[in-house]
Amino acid sequence: MLIRKLKLSGFKSFVEPAELRIEQGLTGVVGPNGCGKSNLLEAIRWVMGENSPKSLRSGGMDDVIFAGTAQRPPRDFAEAVLHATDAEGEELVVTRRIERGAGSAYRVNGRDVRAKDVALVFADAATGAHSPALVSQGRIAAVIAAKPAERRMMLEEAAGIAGLHVRRRDAENK
Ligand code: ATP
Ligand code: MG
Repeated sequence: MLIRKLKLSGFKSFVEPAELRIEQGLTGVVGPNGCGKSNLLEAIRWVMGENSPKSLRSGGMDDVIFAGTAQRPPRDFAEAVLHATDAEGEELVVTRRIERGAGSAYRVNGRDVRAKDVALVFADAATGAHSPALVSQGRIAAVIAAKPAERRMMLEEAAGIAGLHVRRRDAENK
């Protein structure tokens, strides 16, 4: 799965509509502390169905909605749209929207779907909100400190090939 674009509106610090394009090769996001870099990663997890307060650094579900500042009133909804190309080369547009006090609604390629339909779209072990390919700020130290064998396992999980070893061992033991 290739993530190509992320559009946000009212999500955490992204109060105005914002678009992040992820081009071929390496995309860097730079900016001062607190400018919203980690919020981008959280938005990717969130649109894929993440609800864990820890992963989203939130208390309740509505905490992803722009909470307002001294200068700006809060928003009453947050929306994230993820554009991706799936393993079969099909274009995928996944939208999640949350309204204050009213919960989340999802769309896939313009059709209203349930949360579990989105979970199925990202069910492959190498993608989805819990993919080891999404490494949050606090986890980088763990990757660096890991023993070589552990680190290899993490990288193989991220690349989606960890299951191959298990299947090969199974095959060898037959
Ligand atoms: P660092 O370089 O320190 O890791 P960062 O660029 O990763 O910073 P984030 O952690 O993504 O920054 O952004 C944090 C900012 O997002 C804070 O200023 C916080 O106030 C703001 N923020 C988080 N949730 C909301 C919300 N619901 N409404 C408004 N602002 C929010
Ligand atoms: Mg950060």
